[in-house]
Amino acid sequence: MRVGCPKEIKNNEFRVGLTPGSVREYVAHGHEVIVETNAGLGIDADDGVYQAAGAKIVASARDVFDQSDMIVKVKEPQPSEWAMLREDQILYTYLHLAPDPEQTKGLVESGCTAVAYETVTDDHGGLPLLAPMSEVAGRLSIQAGATALEKVNGGRGVMLGGVPGVLPGKVTIIGGGVVGLNAAKMAAGLGAEVTMLDRSIPRLRQLDDIFNGRVRTRYSTIEALEHEVFSADLTIGAVLVAGAAAPKLVTREMLSGMKKGSVIVDVAIDQGGCFETSHATTHSEPTFEVDGVIHYCVANMPGAVPVTSTHALNNATLHYGLQLADKGLKAIAEDRHLRAGLNVHRGRITNKPVAEALGYEL
Ligand code: NAD
Repeated sequence: MRVGCPKEIKNNEFRVGLTPGSVREYVAHGHEVIVETNAGLGIDADDGVYQAAGAKIVASARDVFDQSDMIVKVKEPQPSEWAMLREDQILYTYLHLAPDPEQTKGLVESGCTAVAYETVTDDHGGLPLLAPMSEVAGRLSIQAGATALEKVNGGRGVMLGGVPGVLPGKVTIIGGGVVGLNAAKMAAGLGAEVTMLDRSIPRLRQLDDIFNGRVRTRYSTIEALEHEVFSADLTIGAVLVAGAAAPKLVTREMLSGMKKGSVIVDVAIDQGGCFETSHATTHSEPTFEVDGVIHYCVANMPGAVPVTSTHALNNATLHYGLQLADKGLKAIAEDRHLRAGLNVHRGRITNKPVAEALGYEL
């Protein structure tokens, strides 16, 4: 199969669909790989590195789309991209169609077969192509929070690790899933005092086993939440209710009980956020203040570290991508996890939540 990788064109997107390492794997499977010139500059991989891995470099996205049977990307296609897709093409990338009627219409009209990273499943009931970005965002949340806590950035001037003779900062993590676990590892690693709240007792048990006393766990009631958020220097919002908007667990009223200059990092902002006062921000202006509390609500946190994020993403996408390249549409018919990823096929929506959200027939 001819596998194409265009340069990402969404604003401030520096990741790339295929690393040179992934190119080698596709080539080893007998595929031809076509990469747009400079596609990998954001991860420090120039055209020469891609050529050495076996890719053919072409001058434009148009060339990639014209010459490929399958397109591998990171972000959802932009209008100029969906206009280039064809009925005989497979698109393999993040799509997030439910809140995006325009892109959905574009993909339906193109007739292409679109497999969305975010809905591919695994044997453990997880979303394996979403997890690596949650790992990145969870770990970044502590770096971002620690920076925002610095006085010059509006924070209360507390260092999370403390120093000998001075108590460490206190970190509260709401939601102990992938984001929460990774945030806790970083916070504990820095030497902070860490508490995690979750509504799942089995998950709290797992977390307790993982951290063996280094991190405290607490069942999330309103009372427990207030207690932990009011005493925190840094609070991480990391809840997810699958398929639904994040519950607003910290209300505007509760901000008055929090320490002035304390920081919240609302990682769940891409699902609407779990703080009532959150609104999405960007890497160029990541924070704002409400009632003396600094809010960091960047909706695409992994974009800050494209090198790490691209490699983490490729580790997860390669296995399914190779199946698609090796077997074409047959791979989707044979593998229920890839089938769960199928969102659009030959002018129809094939994913139930997307169809329901946008009023399409399945
Ligand atoms: P996850 O499903 O692994 O974990 C969510 C956890 O929240 C679960 O353990 C669940 O039990 C817990 N939870 C649900 N309701 C709760 C409640 N009322 N109180 C306490 N805990 C509750 O999800 P995840 O992969 O960790 O993702 C968390 C959020 O981060 C999602 O909204 C995801 O989209 C978002 N995310 C954002 C970015 C970003 O750049 N901002 C990047 C990656 C992920």
